[in-house]
Amino acid sequence: MIRVYVCPKCEAIKVGSRRKKVVCYYCDETPMLITELEFLEYSEMLPEERQEYAREWMKKYREKKKSVKEKEHADEEQKG
Ligand SMILES: [Zn+2]
Repeated sequence: MIRVYVCPKCEAIKVGSRRKKVVCYYCDETPMLITELEFLEYSEMLPEERQEYAREWMKKYREKKKSVKEKEHADEEQKG
């Protein structure tokens, strides 16, 4: 299954298979984050629209991350 991924470092956007780990080639193979964007939708977008989506998505992601920071921290501690 093809999914759309965003790089948390440079906000690059690209598609990849869900089965494989998708990394960013622009910034030293940073693991990319999976988005909810449908591949069909992505394929119909212009390059500028894709970049705009990636930027907006990262903005929301950072806000979400900030609000669950404490919970995340606890999860990390559990993992060791
Ligand atoms: Zn990157």
